[in-house]
Amino acid sequence: MRKRIFVLCALVLFLCFFARAGGAQKGLKVFISVDMEGISGVIHWDDVSRKGDDYPLFRKFMTQETNAAIVGALEAGATEILVRDSHGSARNILPDLLRHEPELLRDWSGGPLIMMEGIDKTFDAVIFIGYHARAGTPDAVLKHTMTGTIFDVVLNGKKMPEAGINGAIAGHFDVPVVMVTGDLAICKQANELFGDVETVAVKEGIGKAAKMLHPVKAQELIKKKTTAALKRLKDFKPYKPKPPFTMEITFTEEEIAERSSWIPGAKRSGDRSVSFTSNDFMEILKFFRLAR
Ligand SMILES: [Zn+2]
Repeated sequence: MRKRIFVLCALVLFLCFFARAGGAQKGLKVFISVDMEGISGVIHWDDVSRKGDDYPLFRKFMTQETNAAIVGALEAGATEILVRDSHGSARNILPDLLRHEPELLRDWSGGPLIMMEGIDKTFDAVIFIGYHARAGTPDAVLKHTMTGTIFDVVLNGKKMPEAGINGAIAGHFDVPVVMVTGDLAICKQANELFGDVETVAVKEGIGKAAKMLHPVKAQELIKKKTTAALKRLKDFKPYKPKPPFTMEITFTEEEIAERSSWIPGAKRSGDRSVSFTSNDFMEILKFFRLAR
């Protein structure tokens, strides 16, 4: 009898092990930062600002693309998801239209994590939805870097789109970026910075025009690529520039460089530029938050 119980227990353990190994990964915790300029259909500043006639339509698409990523993440085994609304007022995603599984982080705390507010070491993966290329990129939709007054941001010698800075914030917490969506230009910049992360180019800039995927097609691809990215999570490493960190910001106006040069530790590095060096990445983020 004892022998039979032993065999039965061994069989149950064996089956449990293989059911887990063969199925989706369980217990993934996923952080999704959502911007608006890289959402399908968006082409003009009016589309992403409250005063624009078509803003209600595009905030709906923004919510639907977020939902597509959420469904893709759930299919890959996500059990906890935080959605960070990262555009403008940070009050764009429609809470009632958003799927009920994640928590939604809205508005700005005033702290230095900005578009990555809510990230910490407990997350397994970061996804950027609706992102855009850095200021000055050719053939890119609504390209800019944080504010209209920043001409360029260089971190440890590399030009940074917002995705790069936010990827380094995720890296500071040892969390890898696994997927980026937006126009083709930001997808290329993401691959240059983070390696072969999954991307979905929902549009391709032609000067300041663009050809676009249908929003439903974009959402299908986002869902599929999110699942694909999370299923090969072990392929991705956190993006971690090496200390000492140096950030140089070039502004469009000389006056902003003058003002920002008074931040403790900041140095004037050019007519319109300031730079800041630290071994502590959080100090770099504080400088980035205050320099404007
Ligand atoms: Zn934005």
